[in-house]
Amino acid sequence: IIEVRDVHKTFVSETKRTLWSRLTGRPHVEKRVEVLKGVDLVVHRGETIAILGSSGSGKSTLLRCINKLETIEAGRIYVNGHLIGYEERDGGLIAEKASITAQKRTDIGFVFQHFNLFLNKTALGNVMAPLRDVKKLSASEARNIAVPNLEMVGLGDKMENYPSKLSGGQKQRVAIARALAMEPSVMLFDEPTSALDPELVGEVLSVIKKIAQQGTTMVIVTHEMQFAREIADRIVVMDQGIIVEEGPPSQIFTAPQHPKTRALLSRSG
Ligand code: ATP
Ligand code: MG
Repeated sequence: IIEVRDVHKTFVSETKRTLWSRLTGRPHVEKRVEVLKGVDLVVHRGETIAILGSSGSGKSTLLRCINKLETIEAGRIYVNGHLIGYEERDGGLIAEKASITAQKRTDIGFVFQHFNLFLNKTALGNVMAPLRDVKKLSASEARNIAVPNLEMVGLGDKMENYPSKLSGGQKQRVAIARALAMEPSVMLFDEPTSALDPELVGEVLSVIKKIAQQGTTMVIVTHEMQFAREIADRIVVMDQGIIVEEGPPSQIFTAPQHPKTRALLSRSG
């Protein structure tokens, strides 16, 4: 259902314009960092994938590319059969209209490390917002979808709370309910628990586990090794912009092949 084919992503940072660049009109390019160097990944319907990898290996960038929060230079990404960010025309690719990308993006749920809730809306208001604004549902239709989703994440009694009156774990569960309420084909999680106090991690992981058991297609970037081992159908290990190893948890955790995988596992104990 997700198909990532030979995806390359480079970040270019520019320095101040130098005299030479002013004269020539060329920006002075300080550095180009190739963050994804040809990533191939296929995620099947109903599968749960955990992406592991050290800091800076390109995990967040990969998720952001799938959601078209970043533009890629080469390769193709399909979600649910739709090419993300481009239209295929006469064998070539042309950039598609932002409105079309936005439409395709509604099929992809994204949960961020830092929740990204609307602070001026209640928990219920947060979950209703995209149903109203993107799906154009009426208030009562949106509410009828939002309420059971908040109940599913265990927040039936906190629906009228504003984010300032919610714990980190509760905020993240609102964010999960908000993404799920849109009934996306896939859910992407970028380190959903790494901004949380340790005692709040468990409640969020158990909600994610519950969603996985309902057969939702999920890609989760996480540093929680035990969680990845329990929940994932397949573990994907990234290092320096490529996938260095993938396989079922039973294989990755007991007989890691790549030195980077071994290093990751030993570091986490
Ligand atoms: P972490 O575990 O720390 O979240 P990550 O695997 O998610 O790491 P990315 O956030 O994908 O790593 O970043 C990969 C590389 O890309 C890093 O070297 C980072 O500095 C660089 N990078 C990310 N975003 C940008 C940006 N907007 N501009 C320039 N460089 C960037
Ligand atoms: Mg990251």
